[in-house]
Amino acid sequence: MKTRTKVVVIGGGIAGCSTLYHLTQEGWSDVMLLERDELTSGTTWHSAAQVTNFGMTQTMVGLKSHSIGLYQELAADPDYPINYHHGDGGIRLANTEAQMDGYRHFASMARGMDVHFEVIDAQECARRHPLISTDNLLGGLWDPMDGDIDPAQLCQALARRARRAGAEVHRNTPVTALRQLKDDTWEVETPNGTVHADIVVNACGYRVNEVGAMMGVHHPVMSMEHQYFVTEEIPTIREAGHRMPLIRCPISDFYSRQEKFGLLVGFYEQGCKTWGMDGIDPKFSNALCPDDLDRVTDVLEGAFARMPALTEVGIHTVVNGPITYTIDGAPLVGPIPGKRNAFCIIGLRAGLGEGGGHGWLLAQQIVHGEACYDTWGLDPRRFTSHGNVELTALKAIEDYQNEFRFQFPHEQRPAGRPIKSTPLTPVLAAEGAEFGVVNGWERVDYFRPTPDFTETLGFRFNEVHGVVAAEVGAVQTGVGLTEVNGFNRFEIKGKDAHDFLDRMVCGHATRKEGRVGLCYLLNHHGMLKSEATIANLPGGRVWYGSAAASEFHDMDWLTQHIAPGEDVTIGSLTNDWTNLVLAGPKARDVLSNAARGDWSADAFPWLSVREAFVGIAPTVVMSVSFSGELAYEVHVPNAQLYAAYLALRRAGKPFGLSLFGSRAVESMRLEKGFLHWKADILTEFDPYETGLDRFVKLDKPDFVGKAALMGRQAAGPRKKLVTLAVDCIDRPACPGSSVMLEGKVVGTVTSGDWGHRTGMNLALAFVEPDLSDEGTGVKIDMLGALFPARVISPVPYDPSFQNMRA
Ligand SMILES: Cc1cc2nc3c(=O)[nH]c(=O)nc-3n(C[C@H](O)[C@H](O)[C@H](O)COP(=O)(O)OP(=O)(O)OC[C@H]3O[C@@H](n4cnc5c(N)ncnc54)[C@H](O)[C@@H]3O)c2cc1C
Repeated sequence: MKTRTKVVVIGGGIAGCSTLYHLTQEGWSDVMLLERDELTSGTTWHSAAQVTNFGMTQTMVGLKSHSIGLYQELAADPDYPINYHHGDGGIRLANTEAQMDGYRHFASMARGMDVHFEVIDAQECARRHPLISTDNLLGGLWDPMDGDIDPAQLCQALARRARRAGAEVHRNTPVTALRQLKDDTWEVETPNGTVHADIVVNACGYRVNEVGAMMGVHHPVMSMEHQYFVTEEIPTIREAGHRMPLIRCPISDFYSRQEKFGLLVGFYEQGCKTWGMDGIDPKFSNALCPDDLDRVTDVLEGAFARMPALTEVGIHTVVNGPITYTIDGAPLVGPIPGKRNAFCIIGLRAGLGEGGGHGWLLAQQIVHGEACYDTWGLDPRRFTSHGNVELTALKAIEDYQNEFRFQFPHEQRPAGRPIKSTPLTPVLAAEGAEFGVVNGWERVDYFRPTPDFTETLGFRFNEVHGVVAAEVGAVQTGVGLTEVNGFNRFEIKGKDAHDFLDRMVCGHATRKEGRVGLCYLLNHHGMLKSEATIANLPGGRVWYGSAAASEFHDMDWLTQHIAPGEDVTIGSLTNDWTNLVLAGPKARDVLSNAARGDWSADAFPWLSVREAFVGIAPTVVMSVSFSGELAYEVHVPNAQLYAAYLALRRAGKPFGLSLFGSRAVESMRLEKGFLHWKADILTEFDPYETGLDRFVKLDKPDFVGKAALMGRQAAGPRKKLVTLAVDCIDRPACPGSSVMLEGKVVGTVTSGDWGHRTGMNLALAFVEPDLSDEGTGVKIDMLGALFPARVISPVPYDPSFQNMRA
């Protein structure tokens, strides 16, 4: 075993083998995999190993397509062929119209990734799968590429190819300690010697936190026991002459696939169990948990009803093994927060299907700093301080219980709430607030008009439409107040703070005390990394404000770029301050009533910042707007938040101050063409493609990403972000929906909602550049139907920006 290498990948399951192979594919051959036992001896060896193309985002669909393409190639390798059944298809079943709508949406979204699902009715489901009953069935989603693979052969094939490309694979070599050296490289200790590596990757499956502890981090990953059984032969299957399609059933929480001439049937029972919370026996390797079929009785009955043939065959084998889950169900693939040169590929609950794609995207991030798709949905930094072990366990259980029940738009699941709240949370709850969860924070979605008001979940406009219309109307004609908690806020100090920020952003970062500016940060490929509001407070303090979930992401990026000797310190105020937003034409009246000082447009114009007392609460007030109305952000330390809130409520009384939530903000910001980080601002596009030209200053001496951006500008845009007015009144264009022209996909929706002030159904979408001119007509596939849409420019509400500057 060599003692110096570029990358050590720890763990030889599908995650580690795929990462190692893809590192060699990206051109790095001086890489090594260390496995404590034999390859696949963790979860991988006993996996049901189904490989679907289905995903709920384009990134997930794209990475799964990569897996499928790679596995096809490996299966066809004459030197080392592997068993991969694919092309017999699979069906996700549904028994509600809302689920069917979801499948229609996912089919529209997948089409943009050149993946073609079919939405079929119950009779067609039964025609394609002769063993299922159509009782209580509406239909399903057909994935033509669904299949299953031999997990051990897959890992061996990847390791074999990696070795041939120069990588080393060492079995029976447990990593026992990790030490980070002053130059940010790593010493990796094993009983067989110590390896000095530039970069380490944690791919340790259910032992993720043993290795996490070696580097002083806790990963929000929890293991659940998961069971399937394999039946004896079923004659109908042998007689069918083709393999049975896979079934995934959200109605009765089971899946099935063909195994020899029987079925493999797996369950997601409600009475599920976490595993290994209090430590894992070091000898648990190539091992299973004890069979526990009693636990799955509730779901077993549903499976028997759906597939009556199961009642007539014996059970051949039972498998019960640990499977990892995270807080939101998606894995953690990318940089480890707060660490340098450390990555992870963990929390995989469908690692055989996804592993090929995850290893591919991780290797790109390690070698190039970024992947070809925006990987925020997988980024380990998307959970911040709340990702503790107890919350992870609760969310893992909830997610396991809902395995095939996809989350509807605006659906907020109850486990582990509230994990982050402010002193105002109970106050707003008493006012009727319905909360959504943003990076763990309970943030007001809207205010229920009556105590018994409930939302019907689905993909179409529902009863909340009218509630939001009323909240928007009150803001537009008077004044409204809302709480935006968890807003990311760094204080940047030091004599080089301004020079540092100037280098980090691609535009003009204002240095003037009392002024605020909106800026964009690029990565080294010239693509959009972050969006920041930079405010200059008295005393040389600079505030850097960005999206609620961006705290760890932006902190890592900024601190990595402080040059040696530069006098810059960055501290986070995110958890200690909250933002109260006053918006509407009477916002100035309310603020003037609540806080001493001259708040006139001359004394405190748009894009100003000032410290002030609101009532008795010390605050930082900024005149910025995301609604398009005259608005102020009142930033308050949490200890004084209630005091500031009371002062604003009191001051607002004579002006009819009302409360509003983030659903109203979403509607209003779309009418202004304002963008959301990680909805419309993605690493897949540069600022020119995203319509942010005015925020780029190429005449600055240098900034991160400048050289690459100039190259991109010369090459011209591949897509352009546009606002579309959609000719449809009963449903929004959901993110991911395909924009179509003459039967071809020409773009993808990133955000969509009803604009209540304009009476327009609006969408933001990246489209082909020659379709970005005002008035261009396209169609959007919204829940399986094509609706006409036209490019509108300038923005439909207050295009001269008079309101917010008033
Ligand atoms: C019953 C069951 C059915 C499943 N069915 C499917 C399915 O149909 N489709 C699907 O896609 N997924 C399925 N999964 C999930 C899938 O199997 C896992 O997501 C996947 O195997 C995880 O792979 P991994 O590489 O992350 O972890 P593992 O396979 O657990 O690999 C981690 C490796 O790290 C090694 N390791 C740990 N600590 C150290 C250390 N200190 N030093 C060196 N090495 C170390 C371990 O020995 C192990 O080999 C199923 C899981 C279960 C339990």
